[in-house]
Amino acid sequence: MHYKFEFRSYQRRFRQPLQTSHGVWEIREGIIIRLTDETGHIGWGEIAPLTWFGSETIESALDFCRQLPNAIKSETIFSIPDNLPCCQFGFESAWEALDDHLKSQIPNLKSQIAYSGLLPAGKAALDRWQVLWQQGTYTFKWKIGVAPIQEEMNIFDRLIEALPTETKLRLDANAGLNWQEANKWLGVCDIANIEFLEQPLPIDRFDAMLDLSKRYSTPLALDESVATIKQLQTCYQLGWRSIFVIKPCIVGSPKLLRQFCQQHDIDAVFSSVFETTIGRQAALNLAAELSRHNRAVGFGVNHWFNEDDERNPVS
Ligand code: MG
Repeated sequence: MHYKFEFRSYQRRFRQPLQTSHGVWEIREGIIIRLTDETGHIGWGEIAPLTWFGSETIESALDFCRQLPNAIKSETIFSIPDNLPCCQFGFESAWEALDDHLKSQIPNLKSQIAYSGLLPAGKAALDRWQVLWQQGTYTFKWKIGVAPIQEEMNIFDRLIEALPTETKLRLDANAGLNWQEANKWLGVCDIANIEFLEQPLPIDRFDAMLDLSKRYSTPLALDESVATIKQLQTCYQLGWRSIFVIKPCIVGSPKLLRQFCQQHDIDAVFSSVFETTIGRQAALNLAAELSRHNRAVGFGVNHWFNEDDERNPVS
């Protein structure tokens, strides 16, 4: 079987720049791909790299697309090298979208998913949660490691005070803490009954995070440390049994991700990388299929873009 292959790049500006401990992010760039099979069916896919997580750059993804012929075979799709994980995801999910059998199983599962709403860093979180809560969000995520720790802890106290008891709060440090700060945060997280703390330390401090995960009752989640399937496997083999954040759009092959999740009963939180609807649907399908521990997925991010900003990128 041959597939007609087309692609187009896109840029979307955040309504307000996204602040994390990696810096400020203003424009999301990615590539939409379209496969058409010999019967005229169309499958869409998205390549949405997150370079500071170790994904390929948008330029190398574009180079890969440019060197492909206008008609490709499945073998091409399943032999994309591991240094292009976002391309692996984009092409395989477009290929899967052509498969009616897979498509029909998903809708039921998807209606049961709960979403976690991403709050802005700093004081702005104090105003924002109510809007999301009124729209039905019960799990919130707040970024820390952006401002000095004492300042953030003061805001944290006010946020905890304000949040209704039925809500959950998770914190994400994006590898921005040191050992002492991580211990400080985990101390207050234990008291405040925080759902989990995500990636307190940089990825080269795996042993320290494993140690921390045994010292406190608040679970730890790895995110930056497990950006690709290979990293997921490594951290699992090294003994990580707390939470894994999986960002399907950057993790690599959906097929290999399924295999990994079916072999190991991991506690996974599926999460967005600010992709468009195309990548989002493919990622949510995987989340619905592979989630086992009832964690809200980190896809509550639509409020970070203007809704009319998303045009059909390939016409
Ligand atoms: Mg994270």
